This record gives sequence, structure tokens and C-alpha cells, in this order.
Amino acid sequence: MAQSNGKLEHSVKIPEIKFTKLFINGEFVNSISGKTFETIDPRTEQVLAQVAEGDKEDVDLAVKAARHAFDEGPWPRLPGAERRRIMLKFADLVDENAEELAAIDTMDAGNLYSFAKGQYIHGAANQIRYYAGAADKIHGETLKMSREFQGYTLMEPIGVVGLITPWNFPSTMFAIKVGPALAAGCTVVVKPAEQTPLSALYYAHLAKRAGVPDGVINIVTGYGSTAGAAISSHMDIDLVSFTGSTVTGHRIMQAAATSNLKSVCLELGGKSPFIIFKDADVDKIVPLALIGCLYNQGQICVAGSRIFVQEEIYDKFLSKLEEHVKNWVVGDPFEPNVHQGPQVDKKQYDKVLSYIELGKKQGATLFSGGEALDRKGYYIEPTIFTDVTDDMAIATDEIFGPVMSVMKFKTVEEVIRRANSTKYGLAAGVMTNDLNIANTVSRSIKAGTIWINCYFAFDDDLPIGGYKMSGFGKDMGMDALQKYLKTKSIATPIYNSPWL
Ligand code: NAD
Repeated sequence: MAQSNGKLEHSVKIPEIKFTKLFINGEFVNSISGKTFETIDPRTEQVLAQVAEGDKEDVDLAVKAARHAFDEGPWPRLPGAERRRIMLKFADLVDENAEELAAIDTMDAGNLYSFAKGQYIHGAANQIRYYAGAADKIHGETLKMSREFQGYTLMEPIGVVGLITPWNFPSTMFAIKVGPALAAGCTVVVKPAEQTPLSALYYAHLAKRAGVPDGVINIVTGYGSTAGAAISSHMDIDLVSFTGSTVTGHRIMQAAATSNLKSVCLELGGKSPFIIFKDADVDKIVPLALIGCLYNQGQICVAGSRIFVQEEIYDKFLSKLEEHVKNWVVGDPFEPNVHQGPQVDKKQYDKVLSYIELGKKQGATLFSGGEALDRKGYYIEPTIFTDVTDDMAIATDEIFGPVMSVMKFKTVEEVIRRANSTKYGLAAGVMTNDLNIANTVSRSIKAGTIWINCYFAFDDDLPIGGYKMSGFGKDMGMDALQKYLKTKSIATPIYNSPWL
């Protein structure tokens, strides 16, 4: 691992934090209790801003505004083309403010600034555009009923939606949930993660400028056990779309079951296998494997953190990995040459370090890294373990940090069995030029996304979501739009009939 040189990107403008209050019914307001909480800059461990701490009463107000906007307001009733026009304007405003939004997420979440400014914020704008394009193409089907009836379906917006998001990519999370909900004609109450509340408030301000009517987007910043729990148990919310940990997913489903039986979509954790077969080009695959595991400090749900390497190329893979990891730069995410910034907060930092200790204790070999950096901020070395067995905690648990487990395998059947021996099923990477192996493995792995000879090949049109305990209900692609809609069936006799 290399340390960064300390020179920030010369064009960086550190923005003033303008939006720190709840956004309810089109206005920025204090929480009813007047309480605030600190959001911390993980680069410096300093307080970045004091943010309004929403609780149950604030969620009630936000839901009331969203309910009124849904039942009485224009948004669900607008022609789809008009929703599209407003959403396209919203997306343009996101692009225009990309530098500021990128800096906010870099300071709040530790996302790499060059990536955020160059791709990730524009990616959020494009997600909104993708769903804007769908807003006037939502229609049902004409049915062929068995008797002499005409039958058809209407696709109606599901209603008031609670959107609860994690901290790893605050802008992407906002766009991939709010985009399809708006296109469908829903109204929303968003609860961003308490670690990264700032950009969601900025997006709400831009949406208002674009012409999204008051009450359609509401943001309640605050903690999961209070504001989040109030959303998942609310009697007047029709759907909760959640991204976060499997533990919280259980709680949200329980709350939905014991309140109003609202629909629930859960995008949860993962422990994805990255499988490298003996015919793969090791020189090309090693950098991909590193990024696939360490990207965003390893804080990505689809991180390929279990690397399975076929025994014929195992030694070569390790020696190339050693070369590449030496040039992996850890440092301030505002610096342009940096590959890895800080973990999002002290809690995650401690959690990752404790897994590294557990890996050593359980007998894995520490191949590289393994320590925190001796500097301010939540920086951890990229850490690679070898001689990892499938039952070790570093191989079974989602660490959500820069920790890679490398394992050796012999046969196709063996690696399929071992790749599937996890409670998760979010993604997998399959590196081979052998078509038969690629086809067999991709159909045998129980995961929602399989990347063959690539990794993180995200696309607006590619649905992402889990199998098994990684959850259900997709984000992204046209699949995501479906969860914000419900089907109404309508039947009428074609002419006077005995059923009239
Ligand atoms: P988390 O579950 O702790 O928190 C996620 C959100 O849920 C936050 O907004 C939090 O405040 C809220 N929350 C917490 N307790 C709640 C409760 N009882 N009721 C309602 N809301 C509650 O997860 P995290 O630590 O913020 O994020 C990391 C996790 O997210 C990882 O497991 C990761 O794999 C997962 N993730 C999944 C995807 C995906 O697409 N599948 C994407 C990103 C992250």
C-alpha cells in the first residue's frame, strides 16, 4: 500500500453546508423537538454539520404532507409527460450542481471526489432521467377473459412510500429510489442514513427548484431506531423500500407485518464470490479483483470479498496481487491519485479492525495490510488474507471494509458449491473465457447479478438486487419501477349478458 502525497485536487471548492433541516411539505424546518445530531467528516473526525434530528412526530408530519400530496395533489394526476418534463429538469439541476454535491458526499461519506465529480453524481442525474423516460409509458394490459367480458389492467402508483437508505453511496441511493417512485406518481418520505444526511437535503432543494410540487418529496433526517422505525411501522405508508443491512431488513419486515401490512422491498447485505478460472488472464484480472473488493473502502454491498482462484494459477495470482496492492494509494479522498479513502465512521472503522483481528486469530495468513493508518481519520490499510477456510468469520460475514479473503479451488463443481455456501446472494464474478464454464457457473450461482469477465458493470437498465438473505425486490432497471406500482383489474361485459 502507498500513502497519498497530501495534495488536494486543485479545482476543489469546499462548499458551505447550506441544508441541515428536515424538508417537509416543501419547506426546510426544524425538528419538533428542536434536537440536532452531528454528522462527522471521516477524513478529519471533525463535526461537519449539526443536522435536525427527526423522530416519530416529524415522520407523522412528513407522512401527512405526502398523503395529502398523493390523495389531493397534482403529482399522481399529472400526465406522465409532465412528470417527465419536471424530472428531466431536476436531473439537469443535479448535473449543474455536480461539483458541490460531489464535495458534500466526499466530506460526509468519504466517497472519492474525482469519481464523484466525474461519474457518480452524473450517474444519479442519469438515473432520474432513465425513470423520467418511463413516466409516460406506464400502462396495463388488455386481457382475454374467458367469458364475454372486456378486461384490462391499470398500473396505479402504490401511494405514499418510505425510502430508507444506507450511507455508502448517498447520491446513488437517493436517485435509484426517488427516481422510479416519482415516475410512478408516488409521493415519498426519505430517511437517509444518519452518517450521511446532507446530500439528500440538497437533492430535495433541487427537486423543488425543478417544479416537483410541495409534499411529493419529504426528507426526515435522524436515526434508524427512531425516525426509521417510525416509517416502517407507520399506518399510512403503503410501501417501504429499504437498502441496508440484513439485520435491519428483519426489523423492517417485522414492523410492516405488525402494522398495516405495507409492501416491503429489501436490498440487503452480501458476501459475493469473485471466481477466477485457470484460463483467465491474470494480468487483467488482478486489478479488477482489487477494485471489486476494495472500491469505496470495501463499503459496497456487491463487493467481491471472497476471491476463489483455481489452483493452477494461484501462485501467479498472488504474486501479481502483491505487486498491485503496493501501488494502491490510501489517503484523503479529495486527492486525485487516491484509490481508497476513510471508512465512513468510527463504528465501521472499529468493526473492520475487529474482523481483521478475528481473521488472524482464526488462523488465516495475513498477506498484506492489517493495520489502521497512523493519522487522523478512519483510514485502514487494504488487507488481504490467504489460507482462508470457508467457515472463518472473514469468509462468512459481510465486513463492509477493505478486507479480501483469497481461497484456492480445484474443480468447477467444488467452486459452485463453495460460492453458494453463504446466506447471501447479491452478486458474483466469473472470470473465464471458457463459454461452457461461464454458462454453467452463472446459472448455478444463487445470486441476483452475475458479472462474467467484468465486475461492477452497473447500468441504469440493469436491475440489481438479492437472492436469499440479500433481500428481494430490485433497484435499477425497469424492474424497480414495478415495485412503485400496483395493478388494478377492471372488467365489463361486452354486451348485455346474463351476468348483468
Ligand atoms: P443499516 O441497516 O444499519 O442502516 C440502513 C438504514 O436503515 C439507515 O438509514 C438506518 O438509519 C436505517 N435503520 C436502522 N435501523 C432501523 C430500524 N430499526 N428501522 C428502520 N430503519 C432503520 O445499514 P448501513 O450500515 O447503513 O449500510 C450498510 C449495509 O447496507 C450493508 O449490509 C450493505 O450490504 C447494505 N447495502 C445493500 C445494498 C444493496 O443494494 N443490496 C446497497 C448498499 C448497501
